[in-house]
Amino acid sequence: MTRRRRWLLRAALALLVVVLALAVPFVAAFRGLAPIANGVGPAPGVRTVRMNFVSAFVLDAGDGRAVLVDAGADRSGAALLAALRAGGYGPDAVIAVLLTHGHGDHIAAAPLFRNAEIVSLEAERALVEGAVAPRSPMGRLSGAKPSGVRVTRVARDGDTLRYGALEVHVYAIPGHTAGSAAFLARDVLFVGDAVSATTDGRARGPAWIFSESTSEGAASLRALSARLRREGRVVRAMAPAHSGPLTGDVLGALAAL
Ligand SMILES: [Zn+2]
Repeated sequence: MTRRRRWLLRAALALLVVVLALAVPFVAAFRGLAPIANGVGPAPGVRTVRMNFVSAFVLDAGDGRAVLVDAGADRSGAALLAALRAGGYGPDAVIAVLLTHGHGDHIAAAPLFRNAEIVSLEAERALVEGAVAPRSPMGRLSGAKPSGVRVTRVARDGDTLRYGALEVHVYAIPGHTAGSAAFLARDVLFVGDAVSATTDGRARGPAWIFSESTSEGAASLRALSARLRREGRVVRAMAPAHSGPLTGDVLGALAAL
């Protein structure tokens, strides 16, 4: 074997190792997750919008108005706009976009909704706006890039936001990102990427490669479970972004993380 060939072989092997190192956690992250059903919501007045591997939600706020949880990966917002149309709303009917966190597959179409306030926790604002890079192993590779999304309302842990007939409780659940939030509305707990539902009805935390701290994230969700129980909240379903919903004993599933 010539030196050049040996070098090429080594380079090819090194590349294979890198590709496998990235692909294995990627595949593992999505394997065994409950499938996302487009259009079907986990509760009355909630519509799921599936956009390939990620989902967002349209919540009815009464009087022809709507609130979104997350805004997908597609700047054109095609799937979101179609879902709004199907629900009888125009794009101007959206009065708030609640961001569970600042990763690019959750915020892209937010600027389309001119009448909406864009809501995140303070700890997430810089990531939403693209002023800082994500701090997950994968995120560090991508670096910081302005997102074109501007947070216009900062929510705090424990806040109750009111949009027409809709009441939204806000909870900080740091881990996947520092400013990750869960929103409880219409008895559904929206959790973004902090946790997914498996096909066998369990809760599963996100892949480390996309997360800042999986151990902190699991602790946040166990604490949230205890807190929701203490507050006497009704939680009929959990709605993650990358899987279908979890119904039944949501708080028990979160406590077992
Ligand atoms: Zn994420």
